[in-house]
Amino acid sequence: MGLLSLGTPYSWFESRSYCDHVKKNALEQLYHCFEAAKNRSDDKYFWGDEVEYMVVHMDSKAKKAQLSIDEDHVFADLADEKICDERDVSYHPEYGRFMIEATPYRPYDGDSLSHYLYVQENMDTRRQLAQKYLKDPDAVLISLTTFPRMGTDDFTFPAAIVGGPSAKSLFVPEEITNRHVRFPTLTANIRRRRGCKVAINIPLYKDKYTRKDDELDPTIPFNRSKFPYSDAEAGQGAALPGHIYMDAMGFGMGSSCLQITMQAQDLKTARYLYDSLMNIAPLALSASASAPIFRGFLADQDVRWNVISGAVDDRTPYERGVDPLPGHGAKGNIKEGKPVIRIPKSRYDSVDQYLSDPSDSFNEESYNDLDSPINEEAYKTLLSYGFDSTLAHHFAHLFIRDPIVIFNERVHQDNTKENDHFENIQSTNWQTLRFKPPTQFATPDQKDQPGWRVELRPMEISITSFENAAYSVFFTLLSKAILLFRPNFYLPVSLIEENMVTAHRVDSIIKDKFHFRVNTESVKSDAIIKELTIKEVFHGSSDFEGLISLVNKAIDSQSKLWSKEFSSSQEFDHALGKLKVYIKFIGLRTSGEIPSTARFIRDFVIKHPEYKQDSVVSDSVSYDLLEKLVKLTKYERDTVAEFFGPELTHDLEAFQFI
Ligand code: ADP
Ligand code: MG
Ligand code: MG
Ligand code: MG
Ligand code: MG
Ligand code: MG
Repeated sequence: MGLLSLGTPYSWFESRSYCDHVKKNALEQLYHCFEAAKNRSDDKYFWGDEVEYMVVHMDSKAKKAQLSIDEDHVFADLADEKICDERDVSYHPEYGRFMIEATPYRPYDGDSLSHYLYVQENMDTRRQLAQKYLKDPDAVLISLTTFPRMGTDDFTFPAAIVGGPSAKSLFVPEEITNRHVRFPTLTANIRRRRGCKVAINIPLYKDKYTRKDDELDPTIPFNRSKFPYSDAEAGQGAALPGHIYMDAMGFGMGSSCLQITMQAQDLKTARYLYDSLMNIAPLALSASASAPIFRGFLADQDVRWNVISGAVDDRTPYERGVDPLPGHGAKGNIKEGKPVIRIPKSRYDSVDQYLSDPSDSFNEESYNDLDSPINEEAYKTLLSYGFDSTLAHHFAHLFIRDPIVIFNERVHQDNTKENDHFENIQSTNWQTLRFKPPTQFATPDQKDQPGWRVELRPMEISITSFENAAYSVFFTLLSKAILLFRPNFYLPVSLIEENMVTAHRVDSIIKDKFHFRVNTESVKSDAIIKELTIKEVFHGSSDFEGLISLVNKAIDSQSKLWSKEFSSSQEFDHALGKLKVYIKFIGLRTSGEIPSTARFIRDFVIKHPEYKQDSVVSDSVSYDLLEKLVKLTKYERDTVAEFFGPELTHDLEAFQFI
């Protein structure tokens, strides 16, 4: 997560009177950052990844896997800068009390081969070091996108009582949320701003004995007298028949993902990289699909993305285009004396517009064909600050969201030195990509200050460090290729939006087609758009050479530079061979020769002897699944061979990945 200011947060009803203050000052802070850093040039291609883990308690006697909510002491224990500095790792708290985010302490050099080969080692260190600090001998760190039985009876260790003031959930206890006051406040304020609880309905996978399409989930405890308000709301239609219903922020923000952040040489290049990755985002989501189970049920989709969108959807009924819920009045629609706008998407969603100035790039006005409302005041202010209209539009679109958590002690800030107000808006716009501006201190001569960065955020987390390193390395090298060869990947944003929907489907990685621009030559031209499978996008088709080919070309072009890092040509060849194993893995997965994580998990459940063909993932099936995934985490030989197939397993051993 972004910043963690300490202090006293305002509830939504108190904080709304500060929203304009925060936005006005946030824009001033952004102005000072822009002024300081707009002329930076020749910044190095630094990059870094973020991996999110969950801590799981494995009770082998009871055959029960639970989320550990009592191991968050690790953050205090690991706060020692020295260990983190020495081991080059950094830990960050996340939404879930059972979650640990970890990054390298220092960014990697994206122009160094040794650094690409170091990513996995660094990820392993992060996992092992945190694991060492866990007190419960049955607790294990696992990088799994969603916990299969989150929100079912008794899914936490230690046990906790369902409900609690922030989410008022029928399924999850307060204690799954990070203890830091920011997180329960965020949860409660999203619900308050929205005017009712969040409601997430995911299509249920239909098997032989699955409940009928028109049947409501009988396991929803509607009639529990504890939350008459919530029960009534669910009864009034929040839970859809034929779906998996979830009602709390934790179902989304409690899932884990993989992110990479890359620094471009300057502002203009960062804007181009951002644009070029826009249609890569849905492909990266499909290619990393890992989430086929929610709240103890097999889902008729493979990824977490729309669950998180729904989990933090704080739009008022009017903003999201529905009438206020019966019995809740028009409370959600009032915004003291201000015009209110319709907002098509949640604050956690795909990006809505390109960022490059159409007058000096491949971008065209016509490609921005989505309804992307802006905060008009912010837009005018940014134009007056010297932002061009595309850049102003980008930020003015982020500023349609209100700051959700405002701390009493942080209302007044020095806009020339601090940027918490800006980060407050920026870091609660959770989109497929994030354009990260530098701070006010990042003047062109201050090279130790981060410059203009682009973050790729859609990927699901994979089970092994090998896979997480492979995805990180692949998409960083693809970004390098984009910077080197300047392909024209632009197509209408509405098609990217359709790709996001496609990426959710079961087995989209092998079954579905995605819109892709195939005339990618480095010139401004009319887009020729084809529908390609993931295999065709990655491996090439008659129309497009393929992303893997682009990555290989980037590798070839770096070869001479990279060879200087090694003392002999054998060492260099070995290192290159090792790098190619990552590319090979991406190739095998995107061609369907080895299963996606989502498919592996789904098949495990479906083939389990105790599975009753009713889409239910029981405690013991979930335990066996987790046990299998823990073996994979530890690279247990048979499980590795089962998961990666014989050919890749051979390479993994030959190159001592495992
Ligand atoms: P956030 O949660 O806001 O995305 P994090 O600090 O958790 O931010 O992660 C940011 C990632 O960016 C880390 O992997 C870090 O190593 C990397 N990083 C740090 N500095 C730079 C830089 N100058 N350029 C590119 N990446 C960087
Ligand atoms: Mg995170
Ligand atoms: Mg982070
Ligand atoms: Mg973050
Ligand atoms: Mg991040
Ligand atoms: Mg948007």
